Amino acid sequence: MWYKKSIEEITKEFATDVINGLTSEEASVRIKKYGENKLIEKKKKSILKLLLEQVNDVLIYILVAAAVVSAALGEISDAIIIMVVVVLNAVIGLIQESKAEKALDSLKKLSVPKALVKRNGEVIEISSENIVVGDIIILDAGKYVPCDLRLVETGNLKIEESALTGESVPSDKYVEDILEDQDIALGDQKNMAFMSTLATYGRGIGVAVATGMNTEIGKIAKMLDNDEKNLTPLQRKLGQLGKMLGFVVIIICVLMFITSLIQKRDLFEMFLTAISLAVAAIPEGLPAMVTIVLAVGVQRMIGKNAIIRKLPAIETLGSVNIICSDKTGTLTQNKMTVTKFYADNILNNISAVDLKNNIHKELVENMVLCNDATYSESSKTGDPTEIALLEMGVKFNVFKSDENKEHSRVNEIPFDSDRKLMTTLNKYGNKYRIITKGAVDNLIKICENIYLKGEAVPFTEELKSNVLNAANSMSNEALRVLSVAFKVIDSPKIQIDSMESGLTFVGLVGMIDPPRENVKKSIDECKKSGIGVVMITGDHKNTAFAIAKELGIADHESQAILGAEFDKLSEKDIHDRIDNLKVFARVSPEHKVNIVKALKKKGNIVSMTGDGVNDAPSLKTADIGVAMGITGTDVAKGAADMVLTDDNFSTIVEAVKQGRNIYNNIRKSIVFLLSCNIGEIIALFMAIVLGWPTILRPIHLLWVNLITDSLPALALGVDPDDPDIMKEKPRDPRKGLFSGKSGVFLVVNGILIGVLTLAAFYIGTKLYANSLIHAQTMAFVVLSVSQLFYTLSIRHHEKSMFEVGIFSNKYLIGAIVVGIIMQSIVITVPFLSSVFKVFKLTINDWIFVLALSLVPLLVNEIIKLAYRKSVRNIA
Ligand code: ADP
Ligand code: MG
Repeated sequence: MWYKKSIEEITKEFATDVINGLTSEEASVRIKKYGENKLIEKKKKSILKLLLEQVNDVLIYILVAAAVVSAALGEISDAIIIMVVVVLNAVIGLIQESKAEKALDSLKKLSVPKALVKRNGEVIEISSENIVVGDIIILDAGKYVPCDLRLVETGNLKIEESALTGESVPSDKYVEDILEDQDIALGDQKNMAFMSTLATYGRGIGVAVATGMNTEIGKIAKMLDNDEKNLTPLQRKLGQLGKMLGFVVIIICVLMFITSLIQKRDLFEMFLTAISLAVAAIPEGLPAMVTIVLAVGVQRMIGKNAIIRKLPAIETLGSVNIICSDKTGTLTQNKMTVTKFYADNILNNISAVDLKNNIHKELVENMVLCNDATYSESSKTGDPTEIALLEMGVKFNVFKSDENKEHSRVNEIPFDSDRKLMTTLNKYGNKYRIITKGAVDNLIKICENIYLKGEAVPFTEELKSNVLNAANSMSNEALRVLSVAFKVIDSPKIQIDSMESGLTFVGLVGMIDPPRENVKKSIDECKKSGIGVVMITGDHKNTAFAIAKELGIADHESQAILGAEFDKLSEKDIHDRIDNLKVFARVSPEHKVNIVKALKKKGNIVSMTGDGVNDAPSLKTADIGVAMGITGTDVAKGAADMVLTDDNFSTIVEAVKQGRNIYNNIRKSIVFLLSCNIGEIIALFMAIVLGWPTILRPIHLLWVNLITDSLPALALGVDPDDPDIMKEKPRDPRKGLFSGKSGVFLVVNGILIGVLTLAAFYIGTKLYANSLIHAQTMAFVVLSVSQLFYTLSIRHHEKSMFEVGIFSNKYLIGAIVVGIIMQSIVITVPFLSSVFKVFKLTINDWIFVLALSLVPLLVNEIIKLAYRKSVRNIA
C-alpha cells in the first residue's frame, strides 16, 4: 500500500527524482512496458448486433409479415420486393448509425485531458494517456487527477473524491507518512491522490504510483457504461411527432380499409396497400437522419475549433441572442507584456526600472517570487499574466528562485477569482517573507504601509489615492494592472488568517494584452444578426471599458458596471438596465450566475464563457456554457456544452453560425420528408374516396419511399452553409419547427404532390382507357420525380434556387440523378418492369410526366419570387 511508504521509499521504488522527474527515454521505455494510462473502454457493438437493432422495429415486422402473406398467396414478386426493401432499409440504417457512432467516437478522443509532468527537469504538458509510473505530476485547482499519486508536496491542496468515495466535500491532502498497521479506507489516505478525482483548491505534486487499469478507479471501473442516449430537444419532439404521425397514418389506413370493404375491393390488395402506406408515410428514418446531420455538423465544428460536448447544444446555439464573453484570452490574445510600472510614487515605462533603486528591485523580485508559472527558453507554463511577470524578471536578471533552497516556498494561499489575490510565504535569507499580489483595490485594503524613498511609511488615504490614480491612468490605456505587497516575519509558523494583513505596499505593473485579430469583425457580425455581446471580466473597470470601446462592444461609460454594484441593484433596476449593460468588470464567479439569470429572465438565450473551478455554476446556468480549451480547468470543461480549442471569441460566433445552418438543414429535410408523406397519403386516400381503381401498387409506394426518404433527405441535411445566415435574426426557440414559412411549405407541397399524382393517373386513364397499368406507371413516376425535383426549391425559404446555386449541393444533385436513373431503370428494364408491374412509357408520356413533376418546383419558386417582390416593395 503506497500510503504507508515514505517519500524516499516511493521514489526509490519507482526509480524517479522529485526535482527532475523521469527522462523522456525512461518514460518511453515504461509506456511500452506498462501500457497507456487509460481505462479500457467497453467493447464496441458488433456489426451483427447493430444490424439486428435495425431490424428490430415494428414497421419491419409488419413488412416481413406482409411479405409472408404475399408469398403464401402466390404473389412471389411482391414478396421479394418487400424483402429487398426491408434489407435495403436495414443496410441504409446501419450505414447511417455507424457513421454517427464514428463521429461521436472521434469526439471522445478530443476530450482526453492533459497533465503537467516533470520530465528531463522541466515542467511540460502531456496527454494524460502518456503518463507512466514514476512520473512527477503537478496538480492545481480545477484539474482532474490523471492517475494514482503519492503526494510529495502540497500547498493547501484539497481534492474532491466523490467519484471514488461518494464523499462530495473536498478533503485536505498532505504529504506526511501514515503509520497505520491496519489498512485504511481510500478516503482516509490523505497523502494519496486518486485518478478521476478533482483538485478543487491549492496545489500539489505527486509521484505516479499506478496508471490505467491498475489505479483504484480502474479496479472498480468496468468503464462507466454511458450507454444512455442523449437525445436533443428536437429529436425528442420529432419522436413525439413520429408517434403522432404513425397514429394518424394507422387511422387513415383503417379508414381506407373500411371504405374499400364497403366498395367491395380486393381485400388482399387493400391490405398490402394499407401496410405500404403506413411504411411509406411514417418517417421512420427521421431520428437517424437527425443524428447523422447533427454528427456531421459536430465534425464540421471541430474543424472550426469548437467541440460540442452535448448534442442538444447545436440546436440551442442557433438561437443564441446574447454572447457573454470573458475578456482576457477570449477577446484578447492573452499574450501579456509588462509595459509600465509604478513605484516610489512614479509612473514610468518598464524600461526605466533601475535595480539600484531598492523599491524597483522589490517590485520585480516580489512579482517573480509570488508566482506559479514556470519559465525557461523552451517551455513556459502557467497563467499568461504570471508568465509576463517572469519575463519581466528575466529581462532584469531577477530569476525565479523559489525552487532553490534560498527562496523556497513554505506556504501559500492560492489565487482565487473572488479575492483576486494570491499570497506566498517564502524563505528569505534567515527570515521569511509573505508576498501578496493581485488586484490593487483589494490589496490596498490589507496594507498598512507603503514603501517610499527606501523606507516603509504609513499608507495614508492620500497615498492610497495616489496609487489608485496611477492604476486608473494605466487601465484607461487598456493595461491590465497588478499590484504587489509584502511583509517580513521571523518564523514560518503563522496562521493562514493573519498572513494577508499588515503588508507593505510596493508598487504596480501594467501589461498590455492586445485584442485578438478578427474579434472586431465577429462582433460586427453579431450586431448585424441580432446578437448582443457582453464583456465579463475580473479586470479593472477602466481597462475593461477601454478594450470594450476599442472592440465596439460598448460606447458609453454608463454601459459598464462593477460586479459588486450589479449585485446591489434592485430587481426593477436590473430589469430596466440589463439591456444596456455591456461590460461587467471586477466580476467574481457568483456574479456571473446572477448576470446569466438576469439576462435569461428577459427571455434571452444566453451563452457564457468560463475557465475557472468556480465557473461551473454559471456555465451550467447559461443556455450554452462555453469553456476554454487551452486555459480552462477540467471542471469548467466538464460543466460546459461546448469547448473552444482556441479560446477565441470568433469561434463562438462561428459556432452560432453553424448551429443556425444545421438547424435549418434539419428543418429542410423534415419539411421535405413530411410533405412527401402527406402527398402520398392524399393521393391514395383521395383515390379510394373517389372510388377510383388502385392508383399505385403497394410496391410502388415502398419504392418511392426508398428513393426519396434516404439520399435526398440526407443531402438536404448536409446542405452547404448559407453565407447570409448571419443577416437573419436569431430563431425564437419557443416557436415550433413548422411555424411560419416552413408550415406553409409543408402543407402546400403535400397537397400539390398528392394532387399531381392523382392528375397523372386521371389523365393516364383518359389517354389509355384500356390500360390501368399505364396510368399507374404515370402516377408512380410523377410521385417520385416531383419529390426529387422539389428538393431544389426547398433549400432556401426566400432565395431562388439559382441564387442558392443549383449545383452547390453536389450530394443533392447526385441524389436526384440517382433517383431518376433508378426510377427509369425500374420502368424500362424488362425484367424489373414485369416485377413492378409497370408499363414502358412512351417518349410523349415521359415528357408529360416530367412536366407535371416540375410543377411543385415551379410553384415554390413563384411563391418565393412574389415574396421577395413584396418584401422589397415594403422596404
Ligand atoms: P480576467 O480573466 O477576466 O481578466 P481574472 O480573474 O483573471 O480576470 O483577473 C482579475 C484580477 O485579478 C486581475 O485584474 C488582477 O488584478 C488579478 N489577478 C489575475 N491573475 C492574477 C494572479 N495570477 N495573481 C494575482 N492576481 C491576479
Ligand atoms: Mg483570467
